[in-house]
Amino acid sequence: MPQSNDVLIQGSKLPVSNGDDAVSRTTFDQVMVPNYAPGKMIPVRGFGSRVWDQSGNEYVDFAGGIAVSALGHAHPELVSVLTQQAKQLWHLSNVLTNEPALRLARLLVDNTFADKVFFANSGAEANEAAFKLARRHASLNFGSEKNEIIACLNGFHGRTLFTVSVGGQEKYTEGFGPIPQGITHIPYNDLESLKAAISDKTCAVVVEPIQGEGGVLPATRDFMKGVRALCDEYQALMILDEIQTGMGRTGELYAYMHYGIYPDVLTTAKALGGGFPIAAMLTRDQFAASLSVGSHGSTYGGNPLGCAVAEAVFNIVNTPEFLSGVRLRQEMMLDALERINRQYSVFKEIRGRGLLIGGELVEGLRGQSKLLLQKALDEHLMILVAGPDVMRLAPALNIPEEDIQVGMTRLSAAIGAMLREIE
Ligand SMILES: *Cc1c(COP(=O)(O)O)cnc(C)c1O
Repeated sequence: MPQSNDVLIQGSKLPVSNGDDAVSRTTFDQVMVPNYAPGKMIPVRGFGSRVWDQSGNEYVDFAGGIAVSALGHAHPELVSVLTQQAKQLWHLSNVLTNEPALRLARLLVDNTFADKVFFANSGAEANEAAFKLARRHASLNFGSEKNEIIACLNGFHGRTLFTVSVGGQEKYTEGFGPIPQGITHIPYNDLESLKAAISDKTCAVVVEPIQGEGGVLPATRDFMKGVRALCDEYQALMILDEIQTGMGRTGELYAYMHYGIYPDVLTTAKALGGGFPIAAMLTRDQFAASLSVGSHGSTYGGNPLGCAVAEAVFNIVNTPEFLSGVRLRQEMMLDALERINRQYSVFKEIRGRGLLIGGELVEGLRGQSKLLLQKALDEHLMILVAGPDVMRLAPALNIPEEDIQVGMTRLSAAIGAMLREIE
C-alpha cells in the first residue's frame, strides 16, 4: 500500500502524525460510551480526498464523513475563512445577530424556494425545528387536532427523541419510550398508502428525496409530485429532509430541483458546513410566522464560525461549473463501479444520484456490507454502508479524478478480499 510520511500542503512539509501514542482504539473502549464501534485506525489529518492515520498510512476517502466533507479535507479557502472568523468573533448568542449568519441566510433565500431561515447545529435539530414548526403552524391556524405527521418507513431524520420517532426504523426507538405520538409511517414511494393515511388531521408529510440511511433509494417523480398535491389538498406542510441530499450532492443545489416541485419546509445540514457543524431549516413566510419571538431557539445555532464557513462552501458549490463537475464525477464513479461489477457480479443494483451512490449487494452477499467496509479499510479506502445490504459512497464533490481511479482500484481489491473470505 502507498505510504507517505510527509505531505506537501501549501508549500510546507508537515509531519503526518500528531505523534500522540498515548491514545489508541483501546482508549475508546476505556473512556467512551459504547454507542459507536469505530475502526481500529485513528485518522489524524486529511487533505482533499486523502486521509492519514497515526502510523502515516494514507487512505482514499469515498465516505466524505457521511456526505459532509463536500469540499474534501482542509480546503484552503475554508481554512482561511474559518481562521479569519476565529480571529474576529466566535460567539454572541441569539440575543444579537451577526453578519455571517445574515449573509448565509440571504444566500439560502435567494437561491431556493425559501423566504426565511432558522439556523441550528445538526441535522436532527433542523428537523426538530421543522416538525415543531409544522405542529405549531397547524395548531395556530387550524386547531390542536391537526397534529399528525406522516413519514416513511426506513426513513432517517436524526437521533433526538422526536426525530427518531418520525424516522421509520423501530430499532432506533427501542427502549427510549414513551415516544412522541401522532406519527404514522407509510412505505416509501407508495402514493396509494399516503392517500389512505393522509387526512385533515395531518399537519405535515416528511420525505427524503433519496433515503440515505435507508439504502440510497431515490424518490420517484410521481411520488414527489403526489406528495405535493396531497399536501396542498389537506393543507399539510411538505417537509423535505435534504440533510444528506442538499448542497450539490445530487448535482443540483438541492435535490427538489430535479423534481419540478417546491417544498414548504426544507432541512439542510451535513455538506452545508463542509465539516463544520451547522444546519438550517428553510421555509416560506406564511409558515415562518408561526415561530414567533421566544417560541423556539438554540444557543449556538447561527454562530459566526459555522455561518462564515457555510457561506464559503455555498459560494463554491453553487456555480454551474461546480455542479456539472459533480455530474461528471458521478459518471466516472458509475462507469468504474459497473466495470468492477462486470468482473465480480457483486451488486444487483447500482443507484443514486450525483455523488450519493448505493450498490445493493446480490442475494448471496446479503448482510455483508460491513465486511466490505472492513476489507476496504484494509485496502486503505474509506467507504460507507446504508444498512446491511448496501454499500454507500458519498465522496467529496470535488474529488480529483486520480483519487476516483485509485479508490476504485482499492475497492476492486477489497471486493476480491471479501469474496475470498466468504468462500
Ligand atoms: C444525517 C441525517 C440526519 C441527522 O443529522 P445529524 O446532524 O446527525 O443530526 C437527518 N436526516 C438525514 C436524511 C440525514 O442523512
